[in-house]
Amino acid sequence: MPVRKARVLGLGVYDEVRQAGLQSQDWQDIRTRINHARPEPLAFCLGCNEPAHVKAATSTERSPHFAHYKGGGLSCPWGEDGGRNPDDVRASIYAGNQESPLHKSMCNQVLELISLDPRYELGSGVVDGYLPPNGAGRGRWPDVRFNLDGLGKFAVEVQLAPSLATEVVARSKYYLSQGIHLIWLVPWYTFDRVARAFTADIAQ
Ligand SMILES: [Zn+2]
Repeated sequence: MPVRKARVLGLGVYDEVRQAGLQSQDWQDIRTRINHARPEPLAFCLGCNEPAHVKAATSTERSPHFAHYKGGGLSCPWGEDGGRNPDDVRASIYAGNQESPLHKSMCNQVLELISLDPRYELGSGVVDGYLPPNGAGRGRWPDVRFNLDGLGKFAVEVQLAPSLATEVVARSKYYLSQGIHLIWLVPWYTFDRVARAFTADIAQ
């Protein structure tokens, strides 16, 4: 199995024994740290010293584990693995998701409902409109955005497919920096079920 031992900056070495003792929440915390540090690598395979990340942190079918990024681990004595890099994962998750009829319909219904609120600022509602970047970053296409009188700017992200941690973090940071209140709309969510893969990254 690839990446038998990993070193995470600030947390130390994770050998197989230490990994076996980790709970799901521990794996999610490590993954969150790695994602927050991006693009700086935070975890490394001790076999080849290349950057590593956490896979299957929220899976109910596979055990969480450290893995090389795609194209990494070629010189690793423990062997490479079939890891995909974050951009490939992002592409595969978002292809088909953002454009699905259900997603589109949800966005329109959100705006329709919001426009009934007396605090809704006329003309402020946009579905899938572009927001320019602040500084050097990239812009965003919030699913729905609108302004409420006295409450400020809002963005709604309709998340119908499993979330990708790097994307969740990036969006959260962006909206925070813009002073926009971000609301995640997910199919189901209860506090005793936050470990579900669907919402774990958003809850985190
Ligand atoms: Zn390695």
